Amino acid sequence: GAERTKNVLILMSDTGGGHRASAEAIRDAFQLEYGDEYRIFVKDVWKEYTGWPLNDMENQYKFMVKHVQLWKVAFHGTSPKWIHSAYLAAIAAFYAKEVEAGLMEYKPDIIISVHPLMQHIPLWVLRWQGLQKKVIFVTVITDINTCHRTWFHPSVNRLYCPSEAVAKRASIDGLEESQIRVCGLPIRPSFVQAVLSKDDLRVELEMNLNLPAVLLMGGGEGMGPVRKTAEALGESLYDKELEKPIGQLIIICGRNEALTSILKSLEWKIPIKVRGFEKQMEKWMGACDCIITKAGPGTIAEALISGLPIILNDYIPGQEKGNVPYVVDNGAGVFTRSPNETARLVAEWFSTKTDELKRMSENALKLAQPNAVFDIVKDIHELACQRGPLTNIPYVMTSSFASLIC
Ligand code: UDP
Repeated sequence: GAERTKNVLILMSDTGGGHRASAEAIRDAFQLEYGDEYRIFVKDVWKEYTGWPLNDMENQYKFMVKHVQLWKVAFHGTSPKWIHSAYLAAIAAFYAKEVEAGLMEYKPDIIISVHPLMQHIPLWVLRWQGLQKKVIFVTVITDINTCHRTWFHPSVNRLYCPSEAVAKRASIDGLEESQIRVCGLPIRPSFVQAVLSKDDLRVELEMNLNLPAVLLMGGGEGMGPVRKTAEALGESLYDKELEKPIGQLIIICGRNEALTSILKSLEWKIPIKVRGFEKQMEKWMGACDCIITKAGPGTIAEALISGLPIILNDYIPGQEKGNVPYVVDNGAGVFTRSPNETARLVAEWFSTKTDELKRMSENALKLAQPNAVFDIVKDIHELACQRGPLTNIPYVMTSSFASLIC
């Protein structure tokens, strides 16, 4: 008879925009490649704890003190490297309940984690249920370079790394070569399929058709020096002698509503568009000539595919730091925290230094890995095929892993 549809559970968190974008990229690629063979569920296991942990340090600490001993007893010996990291264990306990509920509800044949803190708990729940051999568990790392060690768990069936640098860290941390694949960062297939020309996109998006365009953004949350940079560009892209603009500005503020309304209330001498959270980033990137952003991996990878030279104006310490040399050393962009410097650079790119803009655009396209997401889902599909015909996986509500620790 026909094989039944396989269930895929993608574990993500809606902090920033990157994890959701990666999760959606994988979902869309599965659908494009395999249609009904897979049913995909994207689950945000942290939804109920919005803003946490930063707004809840005190309770977090209390919780940790109360439960750390329990953790040690319950899981002693199962993952020694992690046990000594009791703090992390306490954090993870918060979402163990969510994970178990997700397993019960979606009965996944395959679990894909796109989050640095979502390997240990789901793998433990699987072990607890005796399902580690039946359910495929893979991790897709979404940090390009300097990623956190919690991404690496030795029990995964596969670890997909965006770069050789990350793969090297993984093998130092004990993962086998056979577990590791280097594919690039998964980007939504809509970026690869983009068929419209820049001119058509500008018509569709109601942009100026003649002036070069700079896209200014700050990840899913609209972070970084967006306002100051916008104001500096408002000056630098206006030719005072000729009394006309030399470029246009598109600002995408993501979920930062305060920023959106402030920018909309200002007066501008150049053509400008201020937008909130946009669903079709590939169109805005396709319609522009360069981008200014904090060093978010998702935005960088998308800009590279779109051939946009990148001005990085900020980075989140830790996981985003390594993204800066990745862009700059490969000639696809520059780093500066100064809004005035940024504005001057863009004005030059749009007037006297168009050749530099073109060269950086070519370098960006050379770095781009538009097929990464397809390589990843094809490899996961192969893993699933190696398991042979799937039987129904006997998920049972244990009495209960989650209630024991929460
Ligand atoms: N993004 C989006 N719409 C917006 C703003 C951002 O779809 O209005 C997407 C963007 O295309 C990228 C992701 O959000 O895929 C941002 O991820 P990144 O890793 O750059 O930064 P994060 O927001 O996760 O810190």
